[in-house]
Amino acid sequence: MKAFTYRAGQLACETVPLATIAAEVGSPCYVYSAGAMRAQLQAYQDAFAARPALFCYAVKANSNIAVIRTLAAAGAGADTVSGGEIERALAAGVPPQKIVFAGIAKSAEEIRFALGSGILQFNVESVPELLRISAVAQELGTTAPVALRINPDVDAATHSKISTGRKEDKFGIPYADAPALYGMAASLPGIEPVGLHLHIGSQITTIEPFAKAYRRGIDLFNEIRGAGIPLRRLDLGGGFGVRYRSETPIPAAAFAAMVLELVAGLDVQLVFEPGRAFVAEAGALVSSVIYRKESGGRRFLVLDAGMNVLIRPALYDAYHEVLPLAEPEADAHLEPMDVVGPICESSDIFGRDRYLPLLDSGDRVAFLSAGAYGAVMASDYNSRWSAAEVLVDGDRWAVIKPGRAPGAQFADEAIPPWLEAVRT
Ligand SMILES: *Cc1c(COP(=O)(O)O)cnc(C)c1O
Repeated sequence: MKAFTYRAGQLACETVPLATIAAEVGSPCYVYSAGAMRAQLQAYQDAFAARPALFCYAVKANSNIAVIRTLAAAGAGADTVSGGEIERALAAGVPPQKIVFAGIAKSAEEIRFALGSGILQFNVESVPELLRISAVAQELGTTAPVALRINPDVDAATHSKISTGRKEDKFGIPYADAPALYGMAASLPGIEPVGLHLHIGSQITTIEPFAKAYRRGIDLFNEIRGAGIPLRRLDLGGGFGVRYRSETPIPAAAFAAMVLELVAGLDVQLVFEPGRAFVAEAGALVSSVIYRKESGGRRFLVLDAGMNVLIRPALYDAYHEVLPLAEPEADAHLEPMDVVGPICESSDIFGRDRYLPLLDSGDRVAFLSAGAYGAVMASDYNSRWSAAEVLVDGDRWAVIKPGRAPGAQFADEAIPPWLEAVRT
């Protein structure tokens, strides 16, 4: 399902024109299609119909509770990386037995909260973490269900800043150390080893790195079981790539066929943790043109959204397609323009030489594939209005987070008493 299409000359999310939404909630704003999110989840659920798997949505991609709830209502669990994300998942209605707690820096307080909530599993990345989880579980008179996150030493052939499965990356337990660590985990009083976990990176669009990592993971899984530790769950991570420009994502059916062949005959519960794949293409960022300006022989389109709202281009050299909300005529004259944000940083550029009609102040554009790692990474840098978030479902839509005015952003800042009396 395509979330954003032109209808009667206007770019719409499902059936709702983005111009209608922007006129009411203001600009910039994020708009998400619930239907597109459900369709993505459904595609994977269908592909794994022969062997039902649990899809724990990686909440960090877009942690708005309405987004989590949309996916949870369609059967998804949640993959979380902090106590705060567990709180969000619970608030959104995800059953605790469908929540996985990952991340390399779990504090004792977070572990206590997760154990108290009765989550499905802790994905563990180091010996000190294992010892701490065991100690907290003992203190609470319980045992923690644990999967060890194995680093399979596979290069996911993705952007270096989103690769996690090479041995030089900071994530996971070295493959060769795993058997000894499982032995140790099994001997700890507060730990029950229940599974094996791996996640090799993000935005992966070829099947080979997955197949290679999964093969290594399954070999190890069998070895650990052979050693008498009754593992029952294989968590194969996320990282499924999406379309930003000309990428071809792996079809869910092809992905499932690869996995199902590898796990044929293996009695194990399958878990996956996609984030981006469920939400990226379901979201767009709507922004308004402040000025069109020419300087140094270039033409700039200066927008009211910048790296404060969508940091991916500045952080990862990410590409986002930009479309005018008003559909250009078929014979419209297009000009190369540098599309930039309002932030006082040279890296605040969405794209160079984008061919667009001669848009002007007040005209609006949308950045596509902005549903993942967009709103969650926004900041108050430069004190501009923050972007509202809106969820569309068919012809219904609702604000799921209002934009915040600069005044609201500093409302909880305080002048210390010794400065109050100072004349300015
Ligand atoms: C970020 C992350 C994911 C989700 O990655 P996507 O590329 O968004 O699918 C899954 N598992 C772990 C452990 C992660 O850190």
